[in-house]
Amino acid sequence: MSRSGKILAFVDLPGGELDETGRGLLSYASRLAGTLDTTWGAVVAVHPDCGQLADFGAYGTPEIIHMIGAENLLDIPSHLGKYLAQVAKAEAAKVVLLPHNDLGATLAPVVAHELDAAILTELITLRQSSDGVRLSRKALGVRLAETRIWDGQQPLVVTVSPRALSQVVMPTVRSVTPAVISCRPTAPFTCEAAKITGRIPPDPQTVDLTEAEVIFSAGKGCDQTTFDQLKELSKLLNVSFGVTRPVYDLGWTGFERMVGQTGRTVTPRLYVAMGISGSMHHVGGIKDSRRIIAINNDPRAPIFPNVDEGFVGDLKELLPRLLQQVKAEIGGAP
Ligand SMILES: Cc1cc2nc3c(=O)[nH]c(=O)nc-3n(C[C@H](O)[C@H](O)[C@H](O)COP(=O)(O)OP(=O)(O)OC[C@H]3O[C@@H](n4cnc5c(N)ncnc54)[C@H](O)[C@@H]3O)c2cc1C
Repeated sequence: MSRSGKILAFVDLPGGELDETGRGLLSYASRLAGTLDTTWGAVVAVHPDCGQLADFGAYGTPEIIHMIGAENLLDIPSHLGKYLAQVAKAEAAKVVLLPHNDLGATLAPVVAHELDAAILTELITLRQSSDGVRLSRKALGVRLAETRIWDGQQPLVVTVSPRALSQVVMPTVRSVTPAVISCRPTAPFTCEAAKITGRIPPDPQTVDLTEAEVIFSAGKGCDQTTFDQLKELSKLLNVSFGVTRPVYDLGWTGFERMVGQTGRTVTPRLYVAMGISGSMHHVGGIKDSRRIIAINNDPRAPIFPNVDEGFVGDLKELLPRLLQQVKAEIGGAP
């Protein structure tokens, strides 16, 4: 695809911050603009302040389009999506990039419908090839990648998973001062009969492990007592828990908690392996975690060379102490 049609990246500023997802999206858009030899800009629902402008500039954002009034539409995705599509049309955008989070995944189909665009969710990679642009996305959890070719005829709406975004975060060598352009909807949006009044975050105890942020996992080095302590600890700390195959075989949990080659392939921010030897069948399922910590009573356990931090210790001593400390810290209530 030659220089035709801009790339627009919709950047959410949760809590007024350009978070890692936002920074990743800017880095992604900047790279993509290079690959597709085109221009790009960011679209925001909230007018950026000076600090945020500098943050955008640090990621090479040439321009920021502020959607006036969009702040009030953040909980009405159908309106916000239509508004974003209006901006994309006005800017003759060829690609609209969104993060694959609650908001982005809800907005994407609305924007695609309004633009009569192709849509692809959870994009991993995108590269130019002789027959078009090859887009690869996750399929069937994280086990398979599906590749599609986009010929550039229709606009394209894409969501990129926050984890893929966190891997491309790259500030530019020379920061820029982005131009800020304000726009208004073509007609005011009327109120909806139904309005979102709040959001319930996923419960780490029940969330699919492939989506979990922090996982404490129990291996065969746990007995029934330490396993129950680990589960209690994960509940107190509001994190997810997983197990190795031998623990699953004991019938202590369901199959959905098993991590590894035949279980779930996980990619959390933090994976804590307790009493896990580190077989290739298990390590294969955790190696893409951002940080891995292991606790094992055998200093020669094969897991240690595969982790960021390792502790040699006995879980029978460690877990009760950890539990006691956490309870003292947070008052013991889960
Ligand atoms: C085809 C195939 C597929 C498989 N798929 C999977 C899979 O998806 N997931 C998976 O997990 N396994 C899988 N396995 C099994 C895998 O090969 C290992 O047998 C398994 O991962 C080992 O689990 P473990 O580390 O809990 O147990 P072990 O290997 O028995 O290790 C227990 C560890 O705990 C330590 N320990 C003992 N007591 C204590 C204590 N008190 N305090 C601290 N540490 C202690 C020991 O030093 C040891 O390192 C698969 C096997 C096959 C053949």
